[in-house]
Parts: sequence; structure tokens; C-alpha cells
Amino acid sequence: MKNTLEITPLKSWLDTGDKPLIIAGPCSAETEEQLVSTAHLLANTGKVNILRAGIWKPRTRPGEFEGIGSIGLEWLKRAKEETGLLTATEVATAKHVEEALAAGVDVLWVGARSTANPFTVQEIADALQGVDVPVFVKNPVNPDLSLWIGALERINRAGIKKLGAIHRGFSSYEKTAFRNEPMWDLAIQLKTACPNLPIINDPSHICGNRELLPYIAQKAMDMDMQGLIIESHIDPSVAWTDAKQQVTPAALAELINHLTLRKADS
Ligand code: PEP
Ligand code: MN
Repeated sequence: MKNTLEITPLKSWLDTGDKPLIIAGPCSAETEEQLVSTAHLLANTGKVNILRAGIWKPRTRPGEFEGIGSIGLEWLKRAKEETGLLTATEVATAKHVEEALAAGVDVLWVGARSTANPFTVQEIADALQGVDVPVFVKNPVNPDLSLWIGALERINRAGIKKLGAIHRGFSSYEKTAFRNEPMWDLAIQLKTACPNLPIINDPSHICGNRELLPYIAQKAMDMDMQGLIIESHIDPSVAWTDAKQQVTPAALAELINHLTLRKADS
């Protein structure tokens, strides 16, 4: 597949030196206190570049917590002001894009369910026209490389050059150790098709539990991925979403400390 992406290198808009980009924060913004206190602990680790929090949550079944909504954007803003961390959230509609940008969210991402739907991706892309904001595109829930690249192309054609991909694993009928099968070969194929595209890994949604996180995070580093997005909550045991896979900020720092990083090519 021909690479048609025009990419601004990650280092030119967020230089993390020889360290991987680390995006961390709760699966969902739940309360102002939960988000802001988690953000302070994450910032204090000195390991985190960007605070993540889901404001609008795509849930598989109705009737579950579907995100706190727009008010959470104010909490993200406060977290940023108090900690200096950049902020990121998922956008799934044009309205989400407009609201997130108006609230000063620094980085947007397209979720796995949205990436699987070209109409949705195009709506997001249209809302991004003329805007200079970094956007990460998660792989679609199904293992379809063209759909992933197609979504990246739609966002890129809207003028977004600060673009990256998030490898979060793929839904499968087989029950395995993972919540979403990593299918590393798809990440390799993406890297081969788009050599200049930054790819980061999402161990949280691959693993579905915190015990496996270090192995997947290390594997991503061994594969030369440029960063990690990991869910972190001040008290994972009471998290409203994805409780089993979230880690405390202290556990996140330990996980990152234990990573063996590849030496830069000399
Ligand atoms: C998330 O990052 O909270 C999320 C909903 O992820 P995904 O789109 O990968 O399921
Ligand atoms: Mn989650």
C-alpha cells in the first residue's frame, strides 16, 4: 500500500529527548477531584508528558457510564493549569472536536470504534479542517490495516500533519490472555507502509488487566514504538470504567522505570 501521509515528526512538536512519549491518565474523567488529584500524582512522577482522560466514552452496551461530558473539559483545563501537563481526549463527533478545541485540549485521539467507521472519521476530519492540533488515530477494533491507514489519510487530508497512530490491539472471538489481541504484525505493516508515522502503543486496552502491562509495554519498546498511552487512576479499584487495567500513578512510574529502552542508532 502506497504511503500518502505528510507527517510532521513527533520530535518537532513534542521533544521527549531519548525517552518515549508517555500519555497517562484515567480511562474516564469521573469527578473534578479524581482527575485533578490523579494529574498531580502523574506530574510528580516526572515521567508523563500528556494527561489523558475520556470525556465522552463509547461503551459497548447502553446503560453504563457514558462519560461525564463537557464539564470534564473544565477539569482537564484546571489539571493542565495546575500541573503543566498537556491534555488529550477522545473525539468521536464534530461537536466533540469543536468543544475540545474551544476548551484548549492539546491533543485529540480517534477511538478504535470510530476508526472502523469512515463516515465518522470523515466527520471528525471535516471538523479539523484548518486546525493545527496533534491527532492520534487508534487502530480499528477489527484487524483491517486499510481501515487504519484510511482513517489516518482522512485526518491527514484535512491538514493535520502532527499525526500519529495508537496500536491498541484487535477484537477477537477467541478468548486469549488479552482483552484485544496485539497482532503485532499489523503494527509492523503500518510501520512499513508509513515509515515516518509515529506509532505509540496502548498496553492498557491490549491487556485488559494491569498484570500483563509491563510485558506489552516492553515489547512495544523493543519494537521501537515511540511511546505509550497507559490508563492511570488515583484508585483503580473504584474506577468507573476499565478498573481492572488501570494502575496508580506510582505503579505507572515503576513500570516505566523498569522498561529497557533501545539505544539510539549511532
Ligand atoms: C480509551 O482509550 O479509553 C478507549 C475507549 O479506547 P479504545 O478506543 O481503544 O477502545
Ligand atoms: Mn479505557
